[in-house]
Parts: sequence; C-alpha cells; structure tokens
Amino acid sequence: KSQVPDLPAKEISPSYDWFQTESLVTIVIYTKQKDMDSESVIVDYQDGCFRAEIVIKDYSYLLHTELSHEIQEDITVHVAEKTGKVEIVLKKKDNVSWKYLGHPLENHNSFTTHRETVGKPLKTTWTSIPGNYIYVSLEVEGLYYRKCQLISKVDVTHDTKLYCLMLPPGTHLQVPIGHHVYLKQTVTGTEIVKPYTPVLETLHSNLKESLHPNNKYIYIMIKIYHTGLFTPYFNCLQIGDCVSLSNPEGTFKKSQLQELEELFLVAAGTGFTPMIKILNYALTNITNLRKVKLMFFNKTEGDILWRNQLEQLADKERRFEVEFVLSEPTCEWTGKQGRISLPLLSEFVKRSLEDSRVLICICGPALFTEQGIRLLKDLNFSQEEVHGFTA
Ligand code: FAD
Ligand code: NAD
Repeated sequence: KSQVPDLPAKEISPSYDWFQTESLVTIVIYTKQKDMDSESVIVDYQDGCFRAEIVIKDYSYLLHTELSHEIQEDITVHVAEKTGKVEIVLKKKDNVSWKYLGHPLENHNSFTTHRETVGKPLKTTWTSIPGNYIYVSLEVEGLYYRKCQLISKVDVTHDTKLYCLMLPPGTHLQVPIGHHVYLKQTVTGTEIVKPYTPVLETLHSNLKESLHPNNKYIYIMIKIYHTGLFTPYFNCLQIGDCVSLSNPEGTFKKSQLQELEELFLVAAGTGFTPMIKILNYALTNITNLRKVKLMFFNKTEGDILWRNQLEQLADKERRFEVEFVLSEPTCEWTGKQGRISLPLLSEFVKRSLEDSRVLICICGPALFTEQGIRLLKDLNFSQEEVHGFTA
C-alpha cells in the first residue's frame, strides 16, 4: 500500500500509544472519529507479528510491528463508539517489563486510502458463458489473509453447502453486513482468489449473539460448479484443513437500513447470500420496519436455498413474506414462473404507503442484477433506494 498525498487533514489522522501492567500490554488508538464500531478493527497476531487495521471511512490506519516479547493468543478489542478510542489488550506470555512495543514492520503507523488499494483485482477477465458472463479474478491487490480451519460442511441443496471456518486464535475480525471476503487457495500451482459473502449459521440465529466480538466462526454458503476453477477444489478440503481468508470488503452500509419502513430483497441463486444477514439485522434492529419481502429466483425447486427456513420465518414473523420464482419449473409447480421482468418486479416492489422509506437490495448473476437495476430505475426508484451487489 502506498502513502497517498491527499491524506485528510492532520488532525483527523489517528495516533497510538501503549502502556503496560505486570501482565498486560494495552495499545490505545485515538481515531478521533465518531461512530466507530468493533467491525472497523481487524487484528492479527501470527508468528510474533502484530497487525491492527482500523478502517475509517475510505481510509485505513495500520499498526504493524514485530512485538518485542511473546504474547498469549487471546486478544481483546474495546471500541468506545462515542470517542472513537480503540483499546487492544494483549496478555503477556511472561510477566516482564517491556522496554518498547516492537520493531516496526512494513507500513507501520500509516494512514492510507483503503478503497483505492484494497480489493482491486490485479488480474481480471470477464468470461462469457451462454446467456451470461462471469467475473474471473485471479489475484486481488492489497488484501491481508489469515489461515482459517474448516470446521464443518453441511449440505444445503444438491450442489450447495454451508461451510464453517474458524479464525485463528490471534485474529479479531467481524464481517460487516453485506460485505464479502476473498478465499484463496493454490490449485495446481496457481493461486486462485474468489469472493464469498459470509452468512449466518441459520436464519433463526439471534444476530446480536452471532455478532458477539468473541465470535470465532465464519459461515459461508458455496455452490459447487463441477467445471469451476475454485469451488471443486474448495469442496475437496477435509475437516481440519486450512484456507486463506481475507479482510472484508464491500460498499453496503448498515446505515442504509436505518429509518427504513419497507425492505425488498431480490435474489437469484447464491445471490441470496448477502440477503441473509440483511434480513436478520433488519427484523432484529430496525424499529420502524413494517415489511420485509424477498423475491427469490431459482431454476428449480431443488435449487432453492434454505426454503424450509424461509417458509418457517414467514410463518413466525408477520412482517416477512417470501415468494419463489422458478425459471425451469416442473409442471407441478403452482407458484410464479419466469425470469426477472417488469411485470414481476412492479407487482413485488409496491410501496404500501406512497411516501414509505424503502430500500431494494438485488443480487444474482451479473446480467440478472444489471437488468433488475435498470427495471427499478424505469419504475422510478431513486439510486439511493436501490442497492445492487455487483463485482
Ligand atoms: P468458475 O470457474 O467461475 O465457473 C463458474 C461456472 O461458469 C461453471 O459452471 C463453469 O463451468 C462456467 N464457466 C466458466 N468459464 C466458462 C466458459 N469459458 N464457458 C462456459 N462456461 C464457463 N458464490 C457463492 O456460492 N456464495 C457466495 O456467497 C458468493 N458470494 C459472492 C460475492 C461476490 C461479491 C461475488 C462477485 C461473487 C460471489 N460468489 C458467491 C460467486 C463466487 O465468487 C464464484 O464466482 C463462484 O463460486 C464460482 O467460482 P468457480 O471458480 O468455482 O467457478
Ligand atoms: P443460477 O444460474 O442457478 O440462476 C438462478 C436464477 O437467476 C435463474 O433461475 C434466473 O431466474 C436468474 N438468471 C440466471 N441468469 C440470468 C440472466 N442471464 N438474466 C436474467 N436472469 C438470470 O444462479 P447461480 O449459479 O446460483 O449464480 C448466482 C450468481 O450470483 C453468481 O454469478 C454469483 O457470482 C452471483 N453472486 C454475487 C454476489 C455479489 O455480492 N455480487 C454474491 C453472491 C452471488
């Protein structure tokens, strides 16, 4: 990451300090920002190297040092939301006095633009496949990875599984709602990197519990394409094997859900994955919310992800409705049919009150999402009312 010339004014550049007791070392970072939360702080301790990245809007403040002494692996992070003060508490391995924190490593104590350098694919191609195109990114610049252990894999449908990955003990990382991570593995000598959107373990999870700061598990729902570059190899991982997982990326902001009255989710296939945390967060935290509706496009009934859970949630939660639309139904299917279209969307995204505050989230194959965004524009929804999840 290179230092950029147009850094924000000096006074908003974070600074840090550290102090110690007999058994603890506390690193304090003064971000001078309001509304900081624990998701903005990513900490790793691997092989004696300590790395803390604080994401502040489009910037990243980095502490990167080879600690002068060994520490235990359980690191605690406290964020004072109002003052923006971040405290990272390290437990000393030996109760000795430290003369200095450590030797600075690359980019230590730097404040650089985040969005310009991170997550930018280095080698990208668009491959067209019949009726669609796919995004092939082989390397992604500026991302930091840590090795996570595969804890479990559970079938979701005939071709999709829910994988549970465990973060290493020295890592503090929470993936914000609507953000994705990159998984990296070496396949026949080449490093392959693909993005995936972490989900909850189930739709019945209590989000407040599952986002607990000490949460060590990341759930990822992945569809296996037998002829794919990445997924067949990922699926060969055995329980206990490791895969590299990056820092989170994404443009969705939780603040888009604040003050919302109606939320419409339009998903196709695994485009359902970002909707899972959004749905759960909205139903749990947004007090003014009157309605959440999901329109879920799939080829066949057997392709519908978490169908039972969605139907159970709709039975239990009066504000939630789900509608399945199949593009390749059998003759027994009595529900909606076809692909995304103006008549289907215009019926689905009707505001219940003329001036309702609404958000429409849309995610699926690239052409599906592009078409959906175009149709929603034709239906007079503003840019702020539509969030498309794109590459
Ligand atoms: P690919 O090699 O990309 O192939 C995919 C399919 O296209 C296969 O059927 C393959 O045979 C076909 N294909 C490839 N090249 C050609 C060609 N030249 N001609 C004809 N057919 C071709 N996926 C998930 O399952 N879960 C998620 O949570 C998720 N989140 C994502 C988040 C983001 C931000 C993005 C951009 C994508 C996400 N994806 C997700 C998709 C994921 O990143 C991969 O694209 C997907 O897993 C396929 O990877 P692959 O390398 O196995 O397959
Ligand atoms: P799929 O091929 O099983 O198709 C599911 C449905 O999508 C179809 O039934 C159809 O209704 C619709 N569809 C497919 N192609 C279409 C097209 N060309 N035009 C209009 N509608 C179309 O879907 P899948 O294999 O599960 O693929 C899901 C896609 O979602 C992948 O391309 C993946 O990269 C993408 N995705 C993106 C994100 C993100 O955040 N950007 C997250 C998850 C998944």
